[in-house]
Amino acid sequence: MKSYNIIALITISLLFSCKPQIQIVESPPKIIEKIVEVEPEKKNPKNLILMIGDGMGLTQISAGMYSNENYTELERCPIVGLQKTHASDNLVTDSAASATAFACGAKSYNGAIGVDQDTMPVKSILHYAEQQDLPTGLVVSSTIVHATPAAFYSHNKYRKNYEEIAADLIDADVDFLVGGGKKFFDRRKMDDRNLLAELSEKQYSVSHFAEKDIEAINPSSDKNFLFLTADQDPIPVSGGRDYLLPASQKAINYLDSKSNDGFFLMIEGSQIDWGGHANLASYVVSEFLEYNEIIGHVLDFAEKDGNTLVVITADHETGGLAINPGSSMDSLTTQFTTDKHTATMVPVFAYGPGAEEFSGIYENTEIFEKMKKVFIDARVQD
Ligand code: MG
Ligand code: ZN
Repeated sequence: MKSYNIIALITISLLFSCKPQIQIVESPPKIIEKIVEVEPEKKNPKNLILMIGDGMGLTQISAGMYSNENYTELERCPIVGLQKTHASDNLVTDSAASATAFACGAKSYNGAIGVDQDTMPVKSILHYAEQQDLPTGLVVSSTIVHATPAAFYSHNKYRKNYEEIAADLIDADVDFLVGGGKKFFDRRKMDDRNLLAELSEKQYSVSHFAEKDIEAINPSSDKNFLFLTADQDPIPVSGGRDYLLPASQKAINYLDSKSNDGFFLMIEGSQIDWGGHANLASYVVSEFLEYNEIIGHVLDFAEKDGNTLVVITADHETGGLAINPGSSMDSLTTQFTTDKHTATMVPVFAYGPGAEEFSGIYENTEIFEKMKKVFIDARVQD
């Protein structure tokens, strides 16, 4: 009787300890013949804001950054590229040939405003935007007839024909204009036209520095807007110039409210270059820091908007600026190799839809091609 009990116990405990065996059947590995990855739909920008720091090479940016607790707003741009700046007739470009390259896509000679090597007119990105019925704007801290802005609306064989360039504004239909150079409009040597009166007749609301402060003006969106900030060249920021930021903000609000389809705006920090020509690092840095603040506001708008491509670059480097050994963040020892421009490549920073186009190393004319591709051509295909 006792032995039966033991056998029964062992049998029961064996039964319970026996786990059901799981059979693992290994299937042969599947051969993946095709991977179909769905690419995220590429968005094209509604608005394009092009920012040109004249003479803003890498050292100008570095000197400004170190003077600003090691920070520049440019760090917010995820895409960085480099552009080759040379002109068609000279390795060292001027602001006219370079502006003609990035505004119109034509490699031209030094002095050329919106014309190719054979002085034939070439169409700018601003002209293309106007053709699409998009509002456009130019805001600069030089005269409005200076080489950089001029290449966007004028065609002239020589950059210093300021009075001829000013007259080109009559038919250009740029919606929002801010810059210096009043005397080229209302006290002309080549003729006795009063371009300010002509522009007033052409649906422009015209005002200038002698009348009021730009901050006090609310431009009405059923008129175009011209504000002349100085009789000739505007003063440096260190001398009290303070319109570039409010003018840029006004331009964005005005252009944005004027159209549901987008706008084109170019904002130039014109005088970074003039600091280079003067071989004054403090001039370069103060102009850069003002421009840096504007870059911050533009990126804030682009961030909120989500449909704005911002491209920030220079036309060339000025001064061959170096930051020498012995420098510290609070005290930079700088040196210039020339009071002219240099042929070094300059950086391109991009933010927003279409920004990825701007990575890599390319000719300055490619800036135009890339902007046209994402901002104009994509729109035409839609
Ligand atoms: Mg310029
Ligand atoms: Zn220059």
